Amino acid sequence: MTALYPWLAPSWALLGQRIQARNLPHGLLFTGPEGLGKQHLAEYLAQALVCQQRDAAHQPCQRCQDCLWFGAQTHPDINHIQTAEDKTQISVEQIRGLMHFISLKGSRSNTRVALIHVADQLNSAAANALLKTLEEPPPGAHLLLISAHPARLPATLRSRCQLIKVGLPPTPLALSWLHAQNAALHSAVLESALVLAHGAPLKALQLAQQHQDHDKTWSEEIAQLLRLTNNEQSPMELARHWQSKAPGDVIQRLYLLTADIIRHKLMLTPAYLAQAERAGSLQSLANRLDLDKTFYFQDQLLEGQRASSTALNVHMLFEDLLIRFNACRTS
Ligand SMILES: [Zn+2]
Repeated sequence: MTALYPWLAPSWALLGQRIQARNLPHGLLFTGPEGLGKQHLAEYLAQALVCQQRDAAHQPCQRCQDCLWFGAQTHPDINHIQTAEDKTQISVEQIRGLMHFISLKGSRSNTRVALIHVADQLNSAAANALLKTLEEPPPGAHLLLISAHPARLPATLRSRCQLIKVGLPPTPLALSWLHAQNAALHSAVLESALVLAHGAPLKALQLAQQHQDHDKTWSEEIAQLLRLTNNEQSPMELARHWQSKAPGDVIQRLYLLTADIIRHKLMLTPAYLAQAERAGSLQSLANRLDLDKTFYFQDQLLEGQRASSTALNVHMLFEDLLIRFNACRTS
């Protein structure tokens, strides 16, 4: 397993103290926004609990037999529970299997760790079954629940777990980590991606990589937007083309695209754009748009991003956005 993300160090310090004092609660609930590494922290703890040679900060050694098994996902005393691929909920049968696993003595030591991924997907029977285990956990058993939406869990379950909240890292720390991940990613892209990801570094890294990879979807959408600003296609027609796309994804791409357009207009064209095939079409788009209006459109995109998860009519949402985009043209 990779080293702990730097912004998780304060959370780890607290967990390490609990391990040191031998008073780590049996039930822990890891919460926080998506893209911050809640799962990474929970898995790091699971590894530390089975590791036979933890360091002074109680971090796993990465070398012992237990750590090697953990890395290969074959450790006999660690059990992962998650929603099956063809299902939308974690079933009571899965939790019964987990209870059986927890009731056995560990094969290496007395430690058994169960990780429950996306715990808000437990159905009510499964949550009830889990509650019993949380009330009277067998010695050496640890239940690590992970959820970005803890309010969706039954209050009875939440109240039997110690909450471990993973918070947003300071922007400079997030940016320096992002730079270290991929030197080819331009800082201008990383900064925009971090805004778009609301400060969550893992999400920002994913967005920045997709953006810079310059995939086919991107090229198509830029060409379509060019036709729109040329009056060769109406917002309504283009919205119809787009209606099978996920609104959140389109808005993210539009945000990073407008960030590029703004940099073009400010003559801050980053090197990655000068080399990219799309530089020519981006330049044409940038020439057609007004700087102030494009800045304003970016703010509207962030608002649109919030609304996109609840949008009932995707066609209308896209048409509205495309009308606004078209209104950015220089008059
Ligand atoms: Zn180890």
